[in-house]
Amino acid sequence: MGSNTLVTKTISLEEWGIKNSKINYQLPPAELQKISVASYDGKETANGTLAVNTGEFTGRSPMDRFIVRDEVTEDKVWWGNINIPFEADKFDTLLNKVTSYLDGKDIFVRDAYACAHQDYRLNIRVINEYPWSNMFAYNMFLRPENEELESFTPEWTVINAPGFMAVPDQDGTRQHNFAILNFSRKIALIGGTGYTGEIKKGIFSALNFILPVYKDTLPMHCSANVGKDGNTAIFFGLSGTGKTTLSTDPDRALIGDDEHGWTSNNDVFNFEGGCYAKVINLDAEGEPEIYNAIKPGAILENVILNADKTVDFKDTSITQNTRVSYPIFHIDNIKKPSVGDNPKNIFFLTADAFGVLPPISKLTPGQAAYHFISGYTAKVAGTEAGITEPVPSFSACFGAPFMPLHPTKYAEMLSAKMKETGVNVWLVNTGWTGGPYGVGSRMKLKYTRAMITAAMDGSLEAANKDNYHVHSVFGVAQPRTCPNVPTDVLSPRATWKNDEGYYATASKLTNAFRDNFKQFEEYASSEIMAGAPLKY
Ligand code: ATP
Ligand code: MN
Repeated sequence: MGSNTLVTKTISLEEWGIKNSKINYQLPPAELQKISVASYDGKETANGTLAVNTGEFTGRSPMDRFIVRDEVTEDKVWWGNINIPFEADKFDTLLNKVTSYLDGKDIFVRDAYACAHQDYRLNIRVINEYPWSNMFAYNMFLRPENEELESFTPEWTVINAPGFMAVPDQDGTRQHNFAILNFSRKIALIGGTGYTGEIKKGIFSALNFILPVYKDTLPMHCSANVGKDGNTAIFFGLSGTGKTTLSTDPDRALIGDDEHGWTSNNDVFNFEGGCYAKVINLDAEGEPEIYNAIKPGAILENVILNADKTVDFKDTSITQNTRVSYPIFHIDNIKKPSVGDNPKNIFFLTADAFGVLPPISKLTPGQAAYHFISGYTAKVAGTEAGITEPVPSFSACFGAPFMPLHPTKYAEMLSAKMKETGVNVWLVNTGWTGGPYGVGSRMKLKYTRAMITAAMDGSLEAANKDNYHVHSVFGVAQPRTCPNVPTDVLSPRATWKNDEGYYATASKLTNAFRDNFKQFEEYASSEIMAGAPLKY
């Protein structure tokens, strides 16, 4: 687990030009918390959890995320406005500026690794300007044993300087903040932003290149857990669709909540050593495991504290994206190590704010590929008064911002694995029911959980044998009944009580699907195209 005892090893960062810094190497989290509170504006909540403000940025900044274009990446990366090219010499200059900035400061350095499967382990050194960012790295990456540190050789380095501001004209950035991956030098360089998610998603993006290109492994933006029967379930979905919430299940051992690899031997392993959960409106009864994980060692981000130092989870005055990171061992039921096998069920989670997709449906292989490439969810338009129209949002492979390769590369690997393992694929709408956002309401978490349980334990199959209903618009197989879920909830049309409105809205959504998919049609087989909505 990586113990809390002090590490005596010292390291040098002279190779980086960092010669005059006090290097705080491998400090235990409690020590980092103490320093954060004493000198870096950290607060302690009523139960002793660290709470920090990440500053100007409370989320990732996808438009400021670059990849160095050079001989390693040139022909492989899918360049565009997701993977924005950065010149190698500009990178070298900027790196020097950042390390000069860090030189002379107190800095915080941690050796860690990614990938819980021994054969895929990636050693990482994280160099942070702030102690709480370094504590985040303790929580989110895997923790080497102290004995392992003696011979630890970092392969990738994360350099994280939130207080460093780039000068766009000189540095080649878009604005003062940046997150840049350099695959030749194996560096993730992050500056001008204190949002900790950039640290974990930097290494995730690196693995999304390394694993498929060099290790024949499919990287996935998903959560995963394993049942008592040994069957692994995988939950894909964009932000806010329920990966963390639904994988945290007292009856199933958690493998991980956000990033996994699927190997050629059909092992599913976590990249990370921790969880990063949304805490907006967190409810102790609805999500007790996550609630109870918020204890000393965890880091709350951008929350507001009450006068008695308890957390007001409803207060979104800093951001809607309030978060907590904690090491995975803050959850009771976890798989050790974080590796599962025998993937039996895949869930594509979508928060359909149009309220037209069935709450659960079963996909054919063609539909699965179509929906994976589409990566649909919906965003609810802000909180401004009067704005109630949902906006469809498509992100290929349910994680386009983190995928350096062309989406079809990942889709082909997933299709091959689906065929090889015969895994079931389900589309789950964790979004709206009874009407669109503004009219209907969010699907009850307990119903979504019941549907997922029924899909996994076979009772959905048993209850609907040869009795799925093919949805007249989306073409997906919709179960008629599900244990522990009221039958009318299963049909979105029935919940609307307005057939005309339902079909008009459904067709609005299929148009959005069609428009988005145009860019992929030239790569798609007839089987995949047959997986598109029927009324297209
Ligand atoms: P990210 O990629 O940003 O980490 P995520 O997919 O892990 O996102 P969650 O953190 O699980 O998303 O967020 C889902 C949110 O939606 C939680 O706040 C959860 O309480 C809420 N929610 C409400 N109803 C449901 C439902 N039916 N199913 C899942 N989540 C629900
Ligand atoms: Mn999550």
